[in-house]
Amino acid sequence: MSNEVKMGIVGCTGRMGQMLITTIGETEGCIVAGAVDLPDHAAIGQDAGDYAKAGIIGVPITGNLDAMLQQVDVAIDFTIPAATVANAKAAAAAGTAMVIGTTGLDTEQAAAVESAAQNVPIVWAPNMSVGVNLLMGLTEQVAALLGPDDYDIEVLEMHHKHKIDAPSGTALGLGRAAAAGRGVPLESVYQAVRDGQTGARPAGQIGFATLRGGDVVGEHSVIFASDGDRIELTHKASNRRVFAAGAVHAAKWAPKQSPGLYSMKNVLGFD
Ligand code: NAD
Repeated sequence: MSNEVKMGIVGCTGRMGQMLITTIGETEGCIVAGAVDLPDHAAIGQDAGDYAKAGIIGVPITGNLDAMLQQVDVAIDFTIPAATVANAKAAAAAGTAMVIGTTGLDTEQAAAVESAAQNVPIVWAPNMSVGVNLLMGLTEQVAALLGPDDYDIEVLEMHHKHKIDAPSGTALGLGRAAAAGRGVPLESVYQAVRDGQTGARPAGQIGFATLRGGDVVGEHSVIFASDGDRIELTHKASNRRVFAAGAVHAAKWAPKQSPGLYSMKNVLGFD
């Protein structure tokens, strides 16, 4: 049907790419209209739906991003930082909206995505699930109520053994939300993983701890610890469908927006 949003998946053979193809197939009002991965990937030429075990959809996997960007209303990118930067530039040149789930971008790479968003609407979020975006809002509120003299904030996360960046983008997002609640930039209170003779913990610090192992999809806790008690806000994803559903929701929303950089808060109306 012509009013369906045509979606293109970048990184379509990846864990998230395959889940996106399955989820789009199960969602009203959208179709997979293109599927791209690395040009030398062994799956080039295979049907993208078949590869994702979602049934044949008549969309072959290609290595040609530019051609795909002409055929879709929105590109959904869950790849690696360097690829995402190049893809955002290509989407800006083609005038195609984007949804980016890739994490681990450095400051320069993040600036390149922001610059691409001057030309096209881009939704970029380290975690697309409704639950985690709710957790971010709650974290900011609780951090605003519990001051640094009384409560220490620590962010703990665990992911599967294949994850290549740490702390997770979501953990950093939660840290940023906690810092915002206290009215300080995260950079001024950030404490990465501790090791050795660290000395006592200064008040106001926001610490991060990372666990990796097995097939854990994604678990995050924000811990508020005082001398007398502990409050823990926790989210556990048991499968990738929650991220894919959020990304597809964002991909339906993005093509209707003016150029700019948007978060899942904007998509979900949590602002
Ligand atoms: P993955 O390694 O399973 O998949 C990445 C895919 O990208 C691979 O198929 C790879 O071949 C492909 N790729 C790499 N470079 C490419 C390029 N230049 N062009 C086209 N394709 C390219 O990884 P994954 O577990 O699917 O995660 C991908 C990213 O998404 C990570 O950064 C992860 O942290 C992030 N992620 C975000 C969310 C969220 O909700 N925002 C949820 C899960 C994962």
